[in-house]
Amino acid sequence: MSRIQMTTPLVEMDGDEMTRVLWQWIKEELIEPYVDLKTVYFDLGLKHRNETDDAVTREAAQANRKYGVAVKCATITPNAARVKEYDLKEMWKSPNGTIRAILDGTVFRAPIIVSNILPNVRTWEKPITIARHAYGDVYKASEMIIPGPGKAELVFTDARGVEKRTLIHAFDGPGVVQGMHNLCGSIESFARSCFSYALSTGQDLWFSAKDTISKQYDHTFKDIFQEIFEKEYKDDFARAGITYFYTLIDDAVARVMKSKGGFIWACKNYDGDVMSDMISSAFGSLAMMTSVLVSPDGKYEYEAAHGTVQRHYYRYLEGEETSTNSVATIFAWTGALRKRGELDGLQELCAFADRLEKAALSTIEEGIMTKDLALITTTPDPQVKNSLDFIKAVRAHI
Ligand code: NAP
Ligand code: MG
Repeated sequence: MSRIQMTTPLVEMDGDEMTRVLWQWIKEELIEPYVDLKTVYFDLGLKHRNETDDAVTREAAQANRKYGVAVKCATITPNAARVKEYDLKEMWKSPNGTIRAILDGTVFRAPIIVSNILPNVRTWEKPITIARHAYGDVYKASEMIIPGPGKAELVFTDARGVEKRTLIHAFDGPGVVQGMHNLCGSIESFARSCFSYALSTGQDLWFSAKDTISKQYDHTFKDIFQEIFEKEYKDDFARAGITYFYTLIDDAVARVMKSKGGFIWACKNYDGDVMSDMISSAFGSLAMMTSVLVSPDGKYEYEAAHGTVQRHYYRYLEGEETSTNSVATIFAWTGALRKRGELDGLQELCAFADRLEKAALSTIEEGIMTKDLALITTTPDPQVKNSLDFIKAVRAHI
């Protein structure tokens, strides 16, 4: 059988621990036998990040800018314990943070749905994708403990030294204050990423905030979305038969619970953080959640939403059997291959991505799965497979 040819390489970002092990198996068993895989390879494993003073992460992100589509394995974000474990020169920053800063993107997370794992919300039939703004607000805030009576104000000093101020509160006892910000440029990028992603996936887009209470801050988000939609996307949305609408976050939450799914829900940074955990656990499992970073100029980076599955890796190193779920990592590969196929007009490559996804889903739907899913499936007596045997079972379904 001749393998499917590619024209432009994918940017491949290898990673750490158990997911690095799965990465190799997925390539060997599920992709290379069918696709003449072309990639530009970057080793983002922590050892190599340390050896290159993290330059490899920046180079990988630049390559993502250049080629357009990347697939990334989960990576360790170092903490004090990792500095010791890997004898690191520095506590290197989160690779995802570095890549996000270079691509200026928005993260979209969507659950992978199978018929024998039921969502906790009965009406959900299709995935709900969360689009989380990844800059500012409470994640870049300044805070202060107020010890006792006094006046707290917001002060802005412009380039000429002219001050603008507004009272936060006249305290007559102890309390707390917080000052946070966002940038119109970042909100515009967020909006464009959401509109492009809605068009590229053919789904409606909802955006929610709290503009009735936050009449300047949240209202600015609402206005920027509306303006960009009217000017740049309205006609394309009409042609694609999809809609954009803004609603208050309370209303959005109520509607989501009664919806059938199948749309994108754009959220401000904090709302997206909280709501994506709610959506993923209500759909079943973090190991069945895909994640893609989309830049406003249409660059894509696909990955699994979970981490490196450290506990399983240590067992693997001890020679023990593991049953780690590779589905989200398989879908990172199929997402990237399909996007590459779309951009390069390679129908065979897109069709292969569809086939591999169907193979993974039908394997699970026939009752063959890893341990994490066996615990929550409606299939009686599922066949629990170890990490590699599950991948081989998927191959048998291709
Ligand atoms: P994690 O790797 O997502 O794993 C947490 C737990 O969730 C696992 O111990 C396992 O539970 C379960 N789990 C997650 N993915 C699974 C899968 N594919 N199959 C089966 N079970 C799965 O999170 P973590 O342990 O907090 O973080 C480990 C490392 O990953 C950290 O160094 C962190 O920095 C990094 N991380 C990276 C990314 C990324 O690159 N995008 C994201 C998050 C975390 P049981 O042990 O109970 O089976
Ligand atoms: Mg969170």
